Amino acid sequence: MKIKAALLRNMNAKPPYAESRPLEIETVEIDPPGPGEVLVKIRAAGLCHSDLSVINGDRPRPMPMVLGHECSGIVEEVGDLVTSVVPGDHVVMVFMPSCGSCIPCAVGRPALCEPGAKANGAGTLLTGKRRLHCDGEIVNHHLGVSGFAEYAVVSERSIVKIDDTIPFDEAALFGCAVLTGVGAVVNTANLRAGQSAAIIGLGGVGLAAVLGAVASGARQIVAIDLSGEKLNLAQALGATHAINPAEDGAIEKIIELTNGGVDYCMEMAGAVKAMELAWKITRLGGTTVTAGLPPPGSALAVPLVQLVAEERTLKGSYIGTCVPRRDIPNYIGLYQEGRLPVNKLMTGKLTLDQINEGFDLLHEGKAVRQIIEFQP
Ligand code: ZN
Ligand code: ZN
Repeated sequence: MKIKAALLRNMNAKPPYAESRPLEIETVEIDPPGPGEVLVKIRAAGLCHSDLSVINGDRPRPMPMVLGHECSGIVEEVGDLVTSVVPGDHVVMVFMPSCGSCIPCAVGRPALCEPGAKANGAGTLLTGKRRLHCDGEIVNHHLGVSGFAEYAVVSERSIVKIDDTIPFDEAALFGCAVLTGVGAVVNTANLRAGQSAAIIGLGGVGLAAVLGAVASGARQIVAIDLSGEKLNLAQALGATHAINPAEDGAIEKIIELTNGGVDYCMEMAGAVKAMELAWKITRLGGTTVTAGLPPPGSALAVPLVQLVAEERTLKGSYIGTCVPRRDIPNYIGLYQEGRLPVNKLMTGKLTLDQINEGFDLLHEGKAVRQIIEFQP
């Protein structure tokens, strides 16, 4: 079948992307789903920093590739051996497929699935196959999803069936921003009612973490970002304090207002400076969580005596330590009850043709989540 897709042929494009146009809207061939695979008609796809990190070369991937990993859609066709979905089901894509039988999967940590990570690195589906071609050339899949396209063939283990009453644009957010941000708070940090939290970096993931902290009953939620606009949005979402770290005395102010630092600090900016700040504002006995993905090679120096004598914990959080089939329906349920208003993270709607302009807005920090909508 021939479909329209946003194809990235070369990394390291320079902004403005509206001029360099790294993503070309091309007619691409997509194969039918093989065993264990599903053809999904994409209905909504979010623009995320992880896509931008491939475009600008911060996180290199095999080229050419159809990007997009935060998506929702409808199952159109299923391959042999598929048992969990049928045509017509509404689904959210998960950007780490879980095989179900490797050690991380067996111990309940599917976000760390080893065959899943290997397939993602190679640009294939979990089945090891590539189902996209352009002019006779093989095209790679992005994180097993490749959702900046009218259709995607994905592994059955890359999708979660959802309640079909939730609109597609809102559903897409649950695949990356919500799973990662809310999961970092409720799964990785395991924040409990009455505790204090800080969130550094208020993109889609960081703001979702603010919502996760509100839903968890945090007593204090300190939102930290260089953008005044994002600080305002965080406060509108329930952050109790908003701090610009560039202001004089910002660290002292946070430590004072939290009476010694926060119980949990979530670093979502993916920068070493942000991580150093996170460490400094975490209280004695507290936990510093990072879900930000800095360029490979970035390193953090931590005083070991502090780690020991203050019983500090430093934790990484990948896709919110998620169990997708448990967490996505749970978070959607919270959303439907009005307790996780993730729709407020949406700052714009685009067509596929406007994707380069959309990445300019994301790059300039002028957007939280922009959603590409596809025709029914
Ligand atoms: Zn993402
Ligand atoms: Zn696995």
